[in-house]
Amino acid sequence: MTDIAIKIEHLNYVYSPGTAYEKHALKDICLEIPHGEFVGIIGHTGSGKSTLIQHLNGLVKATDGALYYNGENIYQNGYDMRALRNQVGLVFQYPEHQLFETTNFEDVCFGPKNQGLDRKTVELRAYEALQNVHFPEDLYYQPPFDLSGGQKRRVAIAGVLAMHPDVLILDEPTAGLDPAGRDEILGLLLQMKKDLGITIILVSHSMEDVAEYVDRIIVMNSGEVMFDGVPKEVFSHYKELEAVGLAAPQVTYLMHDLAEKGIPVDLSATTVAEARDSILKAFK
Ligand code: ADP
Repeated sequence: MTDIAIKIEHLNYVYSPGTAYEKHALKDICLEIPHGEFVGIIGHTGSGKSTLIQHLNGLVKATDGALYYNGENIYQNGYDMRALRNQVGLVFQYPEHQLFETTNFEDVCFGPKNQGLDRKTVELRAYEALQNVHFPEDLYYQPPFDLSGGQKRRVAIAGVLAMHPDVLILDEPTAGLDPAGRDEILGLLLQMKKDLGITIILVSHSMEDVAEYVDRIIVMNSGEVMFDGVPKEVFSHYKELEAVGLAAPQVTYLMHDLAEKGIPVDLSATTVAEARDSILKAFK
């Protein structure tokens, strides 16, 4: 295994080329994502986030450019796309809409069963995945329909985890959840990254939501990578982000307002806790 899980070189994607619906959805994307990183891909609706992540497990093939997984060009002849999909797991938006088995446990078994594993391994994987998402044991053999939104989403994430991916990609994993449910799921992903060492890539339209969790933010705008860096670095461009309608965390604005009033606060604070510490220090 190389250090770099995913490498993208000058990737372009055009929907329906040569028709009236032609759309250049990804423009000259170059990215490297190391193993074990927790990455947030942020951008407006239509900025190209979903198109980008569908390239990562080979669901969509680039119009031109290259994509390497563990150093191997996935577009070369004979490349094993099935193996790629086993290693790069994709959790779609509202994945709980695809829970259809009679029990939560059976639902989580679905992925590994399809990988052709024997029943015993499938069940072990399902059990382990449900433990990893902290799903309550008394609900394992209940039907999925009765669960809360957050619990359903845990089951859906466990279903992909049970396939033992090296990279877990999630499209808007917190969509439709209340703030508590959102923090629960993001906290869970952070813990999985730490405990299991897997690479996690999540798509969100809110920088504020993911700021406290991810190692790195990639901002997409009109099919291009606009910024790419640790959250603090990206938020330092808050004026440019605002110009394209993306908001930095509220803390960023507060700290800049205070600084303009002559209060010596830390402008790189991005979390409420950091802001509190910096403000308390300034007034001491
Ligand atoms: P995001 O996930 O950031 O909302 P998408 O990747 O879904 O963005 O879309 C990027 C651009 O490609 C948008 O302009 C969208 O309208 C267009 N697009 C997405 N899917 C299709 C499709 N199947 N056919 C044509 N254009 C599409």
